[in-house]
Amino acid sequence: MSKVDVLGVKFDNYSEEEFRQKILAQFSEKKATFVVTANPEIVMEAREDQELLQMINEADFVTPDGIGVIKAANTLKTPLKERVTGYDLFEFLMKQANRKEYRVYLVGATPEVITAVNQKVQLEYPHIRIVGLKDGYFKEPIEAVAEDIYQAQPDFVFAALGFPKQEQLLNLLKKLDLPAVMMGVGGSFDVFSGQIKRAPKFFQQLHLEWLYRAIKNPSRFKRLLIIPKFLRAVKKQVKANENTSH
Ligand code: UDP
Repeated sequence: MSKVDVLGVKFDNYSEEEFRQKILAQFSEKKATFVVTANPEIVMEAREDQELLQMINEADFVTPDGIGVIKAANTLKTPLKERVTGYDLFEFLMKQANRKEYRVYLVGATPEVITAVNQKVQLEYPHIRIVGLKDGYFKEPIEAVAEDIYQAQPDFVFAALGFPKQEQLLNLLKKLDLPAVMMGVGGSFDVFSGQIKRAPKFFQQLHLEWLYRAIKNPSRFKRLLIIPKFLRAVKKQVKANENTSH
């Protein structure tokens, strides 16, 4: 099955390698390539908002970002191949951009973080051509920001503004038909810049990155309350599916 429906969000059932190849293949055809990396929080928000849900489902690729989504797909008996995080795809695409000397536009995070991101790019990805750098606390309307990005004609756009702002911005660019890979990367600039450390491998292997992040940043704890709600909603969907199939 190539699409897996989790509470209305239609995930692509590809391995990380398949996502990489398919994203680059679509980009090489000069097509606007909008990638959403959706975690349980995003699914829950989209469920309450038809417009957001539609925006996600109209994206070119939707990856399961978070072990909660993988568990949900298993519970629904429509398993997804593997978890594909925004951060991992971001790193992969940055390496690709460096190799191919691509034009990259980075928007999001605080002014300090975006400056640190730029410094790291200069040092570690010297062949990337940064064609735009903008913190995520801009005052102008999102349409003006989209226009600015469009004018810069980047190959890749990474937006780290959090959901749904980043997707709303990228959706505008998709409508402008910018021939670029456009991906919302949430808190990735904070991690990339070293501002926030990614969970140690131990936590990653046990799929407990969320726990590590919550310990490091207790304000995230309340976000975790979404998870049991998410799992309950998934169980309800299982029941509904059983009823329709009988
Ligand atoms: N952010 C931003 N503009 C805003 C709100 C948030 O640029 O108006 C940034 C924030 O600085 C952080 C990122 O968006 O770097 C969101 O991170 P969060 O951890 O909330 O995202 P997640 O990875 O959980 O989606």
